[in-house]
Amino acid sequence: MPKDPVQVLRSVFGYERFRGQQRAVIDHLTAGGDALVLMPTGGGKSLCYQIPALIRPGTGVVVSPLIALMQDQVETLLQLGVRAAFLNSTLPYDTQRQVEQSFLDGQLDLLYVAPERLLTDRVQALIGRAEVSLFAIDEAHCVSQWGHDFRADYWQLSLLHERFPGIPRIGLTATADERTRNEIVERLGLQDAKVFCSGFDRPNIRYRISPKQDARRQLVHFLRSEHPGDAGIVYCLSRKKVESTAEWLRAEGFSALPYHAGLSTDERQKNQRRFLMEEGVIVVATIAFGMGIDKPNVRFVAHLDLPKSLEAYYQETGRAGRDGLPANAWMVYGLQDVITLRQMVEASEADELHKRVERYKLDSMLGFCELTGCRRQALLRYFGEISDKPCGNCDNCLNPPDTWDGTDAARKALSCVYRTGQRFGAHHIIDVLRGKSNERIQRLGHDRLSTFGIGQELDEKQWLSVFRQIIAQGYLTVDWEAHGALRLTEDCRPVLRGEVSLSLRKDSYKEAASAGRRHI
Ligand code: ADP
Ligand code: ZN
Repeated sequence: MPKDPVQVLRSVFGYERFRGQQRAVIDHLTAGGDALVLMPTGGGKSLCYQIPALIRPGTGVVVSPLIALMQDQVETLLQLGVRAAFLNSTLPYDTQRQVEQSFLDGQLDLLYVAPERLLTDRVQALIGRAEVSLFAIDEAHCVSQWGHDFRADYWQLSLLHERFPGIPRIGLTATADERTRNEIVERLGLQDAKVFCSGFDRPNIRYRISPKQDARRQLVHFLRSEHPGDAGIVYCLSRKKVESTAEWLRAEGFSALPYHAGLSTDERQKNQRRFLMEEGVIVVATIAFGMGIDKPNVRFVAHLDLPKSLEAYYQETGRAGRDGLPANAWMVYGLQDVITLRQMVEASEADELHKRVERYKLDSMLGFCELTGCRRQALLRYFGEISDKPCGNCDNCLNPPDTWDGTDAARKALSCVYRTGQRFGAHHIIDVLRGKSNERIQRLGHDRLSTFGIGQELDEKQWLSVFRQIIAQGYLTVDWEAHGALRLTEDCRPVLRGEVSLSLRKDSYKEAASAGRRHI
């Protein structure tokens, strides 16, 4: 085996040059250092440990949580002539024995192991007797309770370092928010590891987010004007909405197919195949669609519902423009989205810590939607990557949102929430502000409040925008238990006292064909 990484890259993998930080990681690991690699999916993480494992003496032991992925990787490596094998629960006993023997005999370059297997006495003893070149911990975020894929077995992986302190380790993940990163470092004992974080930017994707008016019309307008005949993905939250949206798009003349976990395997496969093979197919899907979809010419990803987190948004929009050509990440959202997601979080079986995490993620997502600055910078910042210039390829860069002094409006809104007893949702508060006298308002006596009718200068849409923004900025919270009742937070005091001024964005409704229905 050649000792030069570039030669290995060319002769074994057939690639011309390294991407991004691959070379730096490989050199660091080959020299015996520990590393933590944060790179998006598709960024090329595998080579970061595969090449050092080929150059260093001994076998590289790779911990990977997904059996299917493990088998794929090993098959690919075998085809390239790399001596690779895996140990997991799917193997017959005899094969297992053979793999163990080749490991001990130094006949393997790479050995993939499921975490629960790695921690067995049997495998630990093997590692003690064989020559190991490095430990690679793939999907390292599984160690984090902060993340989505927490796996108890990953917690024990710190044992590797304690038992085999001389063997270099590399943790790899596509999840790079700061909390997860800190947790990985702490749990895996990677305090001295060099961190390589890069490649999250997808410069050809144009990020655009608009307030939801009449979502379907907005979508059809977007598709007709910008993506006639293009392939793309439309994400919705529920199966029902997937079905009805696909139907609607077909009626509008698009070639649209549904995809969600409730369909039969046959139908899912059929729709997926058509998306991959035919031109200009639109898949309307829940998040069940996308894992492992590698279609290079997806020209747009549209969200009709808000994703649960910025990680999810990044992953889902990242399926657009893999070929590097211009692509759109388009989304419409409204306050109702946030309320629905909040309700899902609260109603879930998760423990309190998890719920807190989910709430935080949702708040970050909402803040991202209401941003007036560069979306790409904000997205990258969330993943710990600093970019010093606005991107010039997101809606806010291309059409800087007009802002206005919303101090007075915010104060009125907050006072009205307070006067009505912090028990009502945005629509009711807006009716009071605008001085609408209906039966409900009279019954509640809200027409006699000092805040009744003090907000005539803005229409309903404008008020909704004010509410979304002051929620995103943390002055109000939405109480899911009380059907979206708004409550004041501590932070709103300075606003009520007139000590801070608020700059709010003016919503642009250019893409909305009609403002028929009432959306928040
Ligand atoms: P990740 O694990 O980060 O999701 P992979 O390691 O699976 O990404 O790599 C994604 C794809 O990019 C693979 O098809 C891989 O072969 C390819 N790839 C990785 N590095 C290079 C490179 N330097 N040049 C060309 N292709 C590369
Ligand atoms: Zn930008």
